[in-house]
Formats: sequence, structure tokens, C-alpha cells
Amino acid sequence: MELQRFTADVVVTCDMDNSVFAPGVVDTADGKITWVGASQDAPPVDDAVSVADVGGLLMPGLVNAHCHTPMTLMRGSGDGLPLHRWLTEAMWPREGRMTPEDAWWGMTLGSAEMLLAGVTTSCEMYLFEEAMVDAVMESGARLVMTPGVVSGLHSSGSDRTEEVSNFFSKYHDPTGRITVGIGPHSAYDLGIAKVVEMAELAQSLDAILHLHLAETREENVELEATYGRSITAILHDNGVFDSRVLAAHCVWVDNADIALLAADNVAVAHCPISNMRLGCGIAPLTAMKKAGVIVGYGTDGPASNGSLDLWEEVKMAALLARVHALDSTVVSTVETLTMATRDSAAAVGLKDTGYLAPGTTLDMIRMDLGHTSFVPVTEPDELLAHVAWSGSTRRVTDVWVAGEKVVSDGEMLTVDMERVIAEVGKRALRLARG
Ligand SMILES: [Zn+2]
Repeated sequence: MELQRFTADVVVTCDMDNSVFAPGVVDTADGKITWVGASQDAPPVDDAVSVADVGGLLMPGLVNAHCHTPMTLMRGSGDGLPLHRWLTEAMWPREGRMTPEDAWWGMTLGSAEMLLAGVTTSCEMYLFEEAMVDAVMESGARLVMTPGVVSGLHSSGSDRTEEVSNFFSKYHDPTGRITVGIGPHSAYDLGIAKVVEMAELAQSLDAILHLHLAETREENVELEATYGRSITAILHDNGVFDSRVLAAHCVWVDNADIALLAADNVAVAHCPISNMRLGCGIAPLTAMKKAGVIVGYGTDGPASNGSLDLWEEVKMAALLARVHALDSTVVSTVETLTMATRDSAAAVGLKDTGYLAPGTTLDMIRMDLGHTSFVPVTEPDELLAHVAWSGSTRRVTDVWVAGEKVVSDGEMLTVDMERVIAEVGKRALRLARG
């Protein structure tokens, strides 16, 4: 067990106490953090220990709680269409032509894009799960893979259930970089019975159940008329929330729905930029947080968002909540940073990432503070404000996942960027033209 020490100007832990140390130290061995704290309190080390004085700011890598990353292959297409037409006219025809190799390249591009932005984990709902695991094994990112179960293209009916449980047995590894959940698309796509079946499967495997919930006002009109209840209440009534649920969006939930989400420990992946771009609505973030719902941030797919850079959610989610509430005190700087890190990790079922503390994995990023957007700092809180509001996006210089360095001085160490950009461009043309 070889100890390594990082010293930095600032260490932002995103732990339960929101501890910030300036200057600070992070000690690590075997990909795990062994000690974090102020430099003056650091335990003495002998000369054999390698000490990297990295300067700048260290903090946990961000966790993207809801994504369909291979949609990098469709980025930009169907721009301006409402959700249903966007899916049926722009996305599904292209996805219908996709091969596992396409998904591998799309995932590799997106994974690199996230790592370069300091996003070390993504929770993915998509088909081609084997190709996605392969891509991430090479890029070095952490992946929560929830194989998609959809009624339309590529659906293989009941066989999919077996495929998904076999995939879980083969790849779910809480000690490594890959964990596996179940990804039924939505109740409106699959029907209640199929979602219940998937929830039972998730429960039997103790896996997370990752689905879309109440994204648009129209999507559940038929189900809600049939049952005489909101979609959230229908899923609750049918025991779906007895499993460990990660629900993406939750835009159209009222106070009674929010109370159910809180009581059933349903975690929410809040995707404000995707919701804004597709004109879906404004999720009641403040009310959900007040009720005690765990809320993390997701980009949603890069085709609906445009970007995989979760720093945009850090800023936009808080801005949207504030303008919606006409109140600048809701969603504080610390809260929005916590939601992108520790809360997102909890939402996707990971306990050992999203904050820097003894025992967590070394999923860590370094930011360069020598940039106009990080000055001035007349008191410590101002630096955190700069991280959340001003300059973080393009100032991530170094990234480690499970102790391995994957980005150094702004360059990907694990992915040939020129090649992946060329491949995705070429393959996207084929998917578009058919
Ligand atoms: Zn989605």
C-alpha cells in the first residue's frame, strides 16, 4: 500500500460538514482517500512518501445522475422540436440504425468530454450496455449502467429481462468502477405492468431502478385518466417505489406527489437544461428539497441538452429555482455544489464517491485558480461562489478516478481525441442519412 500525498491551495471536500481547507492535504493509497484536512494538521510522513504539491483547488469529481451519453452521435439534430416529435422524427430513426460500435464511439467521446469537464461518474440509461462498459473501461470514468428497457426499437420483450439480469451478474461491482441498475424508460412507454416487473427485478437484485418520471405535462394523460391518480401516485400504489428508485425529471409533480417521493426515498435527477431546451417545464426543486427528497443533477442526453458539462446545471439549476421562487436565498452556493457531487452520488446509489473523506475513492479534480474568474477572494466563501457561478467549467486541469489519473493539464490521457472526433462525425453522418 503506497501512500501518496496531494497538497493544494484549497481543498473543497463537499462532505457532510462542507469542510474547506486552505491550504489542504489529501492522502491516498490504493485508490482510496486515507486522510483529508488542513495542511498544518496533516500527519507526518517519511521521505519515501511521494508528495505532489499540485496547488490550485481540489474537490470531488462531479456526478452526472441522468444521461444517455452515446446520443453525442445525434447532438444537434431535431433542434427546436417538442419532445414527442423530437423523439419520433429525429432520435429514434437514427437510434434504429445504431450499432454497438457506434455506441462505443459515442460513449467514448461523451465520456472524454465529461472527464475533461471534471465529471467523473455518469449514470446512464441506454441500450448497447456491453459497448458502454467497454468504452468506460478504456476512458477510465466511473459508470452506473442501467440498461434501457424500451417498448419501441431494439426491444426484445421478455428476453430483455433476462439480458439485463445476466448483465447485472456479469458487471455489477461495487468495489470497482462499474455498478449496474435497471433502466425501464418510463411508465408511459412501457405500461404499468412492465415497470412493476422491472421494479421487482431491481428489488431482487438490490439494484437501483432508473426511470423517467413526469417529464412533460402530456405524457401521462391516458394513464392518469385510467387510474384517476397522478403518475407518481400510480407508481407508488403499485409498489414501484419499494425498490431503490432514481427518477429523472419530476417536473410535473404536485405537493402530494412530492410527499410520496420523500416518504418512499425516491431520489430525483434534476435536469433543468434539458427541461428548458425541450420546453417541458420547471421542476419544483425548492419544494422537493424542502420535503427531504434527495436531488442530484443530470445533463440528460447530449442531444437534448447540447452539452455534457454538469457545471452548467450547477449554475442554471440554482438560477432557475431562484427566479421561479422570486427569492435569491433558495439553493445556496454550497447546496448547488453538494447536489452535483455528494447528493448526485447518493441518488445513483454510490456511497464512496462525491465527497473527499477517509474511505472514499479518489475521484478528484483539480482546478486552476490562476484565472480572471477566480479573483478576487476577500473572504473564503467568495472562492466557493466563484467555483459555482464564475469560472469552473473550463478551469479543470487534472482528474483522477479511483486513484488513476485520466486528465493531466487539460489533456485526456486515455482517449485519442482526434480519432474519436473523426469517428463520431463519420458515424453520425451515416445515422442521419440512413
Ligand atoms: Zn433522459
